[in-house]
Amino acid sequence: MVSEPLRRLQEALQELPGIGPRQALRIAYFISSLGKVRITELARAILRLTELRTCTQCFLTHEREGAFCAICGDETRDQLTVTIVERETDALSIEKAQIYRGRYLILGEVRRDSELSIEQKIRLNSLLSFLKERGGALEIIIAVNQTMYGELAAERIEEYAKSHTKKITRLGRGLPTGGEIEFADPDTLAHSLKNRR
Ligand SMILES: [Zn+2]
Repeated sequence: MVSEPLRRLQEALQELPGIGPRQALRIAYFISSLGKVRITELARAILRLTELRTCTQCFLTHEREGAFCAICGDETRDQLTVTIVERETDALSIEKAQIYRGRYLILGEVRRDSELSIEQKIRLNSLLSFLKERGGALEIIIAVNQTMYGELAAERIEEYAKSHTKKITRLGRGLPTGGEIEFADPDTLAHSLKNRR
């Protein structure tokens, strides 16, 4: 009943976070109704994502020439103060609070068992060897989401990183229910950064 192109798009869409098969099919039908010009625009916009690079230092994606993103490449920012976040969108939310002048490490989402994945350990180790060469960090701020898993993962990160920094802190409590940094407004995040613990 469902045609092959729609079914293939459905399969691709249901890989997205929070999208189930029925919703994916509904979106696929919606996209198919947009007409040739808009569908082509959408496909081109998605294809352009393949041109992005990943910063070798913090793992943010960027479109600059060279290895570093705009934040790591900015010499006015403090390279020895590092905030560890789960997702790129968390870093963007913290940037909107406009009080942070250090850099980031994008760790990837913490797992439900709160253990660090192999990829997460690779990312942490790359940060730690960067810091080691420079005599350690001034401060590492652990800003994973304040969920039950997040708090446990934060303890593991702290164990991992504490010998490479003068100070290790976490965001202050008080993020909205669910503790998701991405959805906190800039004022709340600024408050949480100032009251780090
Ligand atoms: Zn970077």
